[in-house]
Amino acid sequence: MSEDPEIEALFENNRRWVAEVIREDPEFFVRTASQQAPKYLWIGCSDSRVTPNQITGLPPGQLFVHRNVANVINRTDSNCMSVIEFAVRVLEVRHVIVCGHYGCAGVHAAMTDHLTEGPLAGWLDGIRNLWDHNKANLLKGGMQMAEARMVELNVRKQMLSLCQTTAVEQAWQQRKYLHVHGWIYGLNDGLLRSLYADIGSISERIRAESESTNP
Ligand SMILES: [Zn+2]
Repeated sequence: MSEDPEIEALFENNRRWVAEVIREDPEFFVRTASQQAPKYLWIGCSDSRVTPNQITGLPPGQLFVHRNVANVINRTDSNCMSVIEFAVRVLEVRHVIVCGHYGCAGVHAAMTDHLTEGPLAGWLDGIRNLWDHNKANLLKGGMQMAEARMVELNVRKQMLSLCQTTAVEQAWQQRKYLHVHGWIYGLNDGLLRSLYADIGSISERIRAESESTNP
């Protein structure tokens, strides 16, 4: 047991939360301990201000979650790929939400090139390429606008990357209901917004890809 009050506070919070949950729903932990049946997979940024269960109002058991810096979906990342495979094949989630957020430090770092070495620099390679590709055009509106737009474009990029994973492709081939959503969270107002049309089949994916290459 820790004597550090910063740590002890978390256990106190936890005990208070358990008491509240049981007061509202005495069977909650009995029920959720036996199984989870989430309808949603959330793929978002690790940013401490973007807390998926809280901002969607979902209790434990309803949201399967993967978070990393700048909500990157990379097919060489076995962590993220395993989460997607488990959620789609085993849990059979019906929705995958890719959620970025304005003011993302990961996207900012990729645009400003402050990081030149270490794992994070490599992690952000894909976003750096996206920036290199769109820089000239986006900078016409100034850096602040460019950062907001880059966060949005990154959601699009990761959405399309998700749609190309084996798990998602096979679900669509088997005609399972699986919709991919691209959302953005506003740190300023706490609101979620849908940025792009949902993708729910291979033909919709092909259409989305052609729209992205010919905006
Ligand atoms: Zn972020």
